[in-house]
Amino acid sequence: MNCPYCRTENAPGATRCAACTSWMVAPHPIAEWTRARSDRMIAGVARGLANRFGLPIAAVRVAFLLSVLLGGWGILAYLALWIAMPLEPPPAGAAPPAAAEPQPRGVA
Ligand SMILES: [Zn+2]
Repeated sequence: MNCPYCRTENAPGATRCAACTSWMVAPHPIAEWTRARSDRMIAGVARGLANRFGLPIAAVRVAFLLSVLLGGWGILAYLALWIAMPLEPPPAGAAPPAAAEPQPRGVA
């Protein structure tokens, strides 16, 4: 197959160009860890982990609770995940917050 960047002919099935080392296949989508916007108790970390791994939300919350009771490292883990995990994107079709509420104009 031909490299889309430098047009060098590469071996069939090659994923990376031998000449310019560009990736010739789309990178695999990275499963993002995202914090949930809805149905969350603190920052959505537990809900996000439950969504990511297909776990029951109660199991994740119990695990966090137990970890807090048994040494407290769960608090650190939760805070670290809170910082590291991006908030999930808003649902498609949702109105942007700015447009949801019309701003009063010229009212004194
Ligand atoms: Zn190339």
